[in-house]
Amino acid sequence: MSKLDIRIEPAAHAAPPTLPSPLGFGRHFTARMFTQQYLAGRGWHDALIGPYRPLVLDPAAQVFHCGQMIFEGTKAYLRPDGNLNLFRVEKNAERFNRSAARLAMPEVDANEHVHAITELVRLEHGWVPKEEGAALYIRPVMVAVENTLEVRASRSFLHYIILSPVAPYFAGGFKPVSVFVSDGYVRTVRGGTGEAKTPGNYAGSLAGTEEAIAAGYQQVLWLDAVERRYIDEVGAMNIAFVYEGKHIRTPMLSGAILRGVTRDSLLKLAPDLGFSVQEDRIDIHEVMRDIEAGKITEAFGMGTGAVIAPVGRFCFQGKNYAFGSSEAGPVARRMFNRLTDIQYGRVPDPYGWTRLIEVAAAKTNPSPARV
Ligand SMILES: *Cc1c(COP(=O)(O)O)cnc(C)c1O
Repeated sequence: MSKLDIRIEPAAHAAPPTLPSPLGFGRHFTARMFTQQYLAGRGWHDALIGPYRPLVLDPAAQVFHCGQMIFEGTKAYLRPDGNLNLFRVEKNAERFNRSAARLAMPEVDANEHVHAITELVRLEHGWVPKEEGAALYIRPVMVAVENTLEVRASRSFLHYIILSPVAPYFAGGFKPVSVFVSDGYVRTVRGGTGEAKTPGNYAGSLAGTEEAIAAGYQQVLWLDAVERRYIDEVGAMNIAFVYEGKHIRTPMLSGAILRGVTRDSLLKLAPDLGFSVQEDRIDIHEVMRDIEAGKITEAFGMGTGAVIAPVGRFCFQGKNYAFGSSEAGPVARRMFNRLTDIQYGRVPDPYGWTRLIEVAAAKTNPSPARV
């Protein structure tokens, strides 16, 4: 296993003693970034952690014309002992490479990619917000940078990683979101790029989302592109429905659905909390009927940003289907608490999901192994 040799340049400025307020989501970035270049025939080279800076790209760069580009999203969490946890970051590295393959881009070395994240986070740990529920968001990106207007895979790429201190998603506690079921627009299609984290999927979702927002809703529920009948995802999150407060049902991975790390983690820990889980095709008509009949007691989105985003009501074909309470349901709460307790290192991690980055001062956490 090759260990990546990263050149490290000093940051242009240090972490401020107090972070900007309000932090929001993805609006502030740390002082340094990781970059690495790729050239066909030469492979990845010039790994660097240097000052955060604008990219200088030729206007003919392939990404601006073909959109050959992928990204990832994960977080570093502050533990009670002052050290940091990464959460299942190998899963994100695997998915980055699956997205790369789908977009005809070169893979990265997964170990080197995780090493680059770890080193960058270690150097920038002063930017990790201390507020409960806040985190340091990690955004790896790969873009095609060959200058050509030809429609074909690029021969050169840039891989970079930036970090953003982010506020808790639900600052004032869980607030259920309202969801508009789109049967006009679709997000992606089986055989398309729905399983890849690639910006085109999001660009294509914006018009439908803007229309839903203008109509007074916050998110869009996406149906399958072929029959416009089976549920895919909500916004940029996976979705789950809770039956009778104990059975969790989520769309199976169809090829058009992003393989969420949060989804996978919640499905794995649900049985340990006494919930049963089921992955299958979920018919929108059946779901609306089951909400009306009171059989479905909760619905929630699952993703790294919010972890869990409870749904308060759906609008489908002009009719509203609401859950009785304006609060998050008990299943969403228990799952949220369990997963975030593990991510933040507040409880032991029986699943081996967390990876420790030691940054706490030796005074508060004496460790003879550290120099
Ligand atoms: C990133 C993403 C998710 C959630 O994935 P996590 O790994 O849980 O953050 C779900 N759906 C879409 C479309 C996404 O882009």
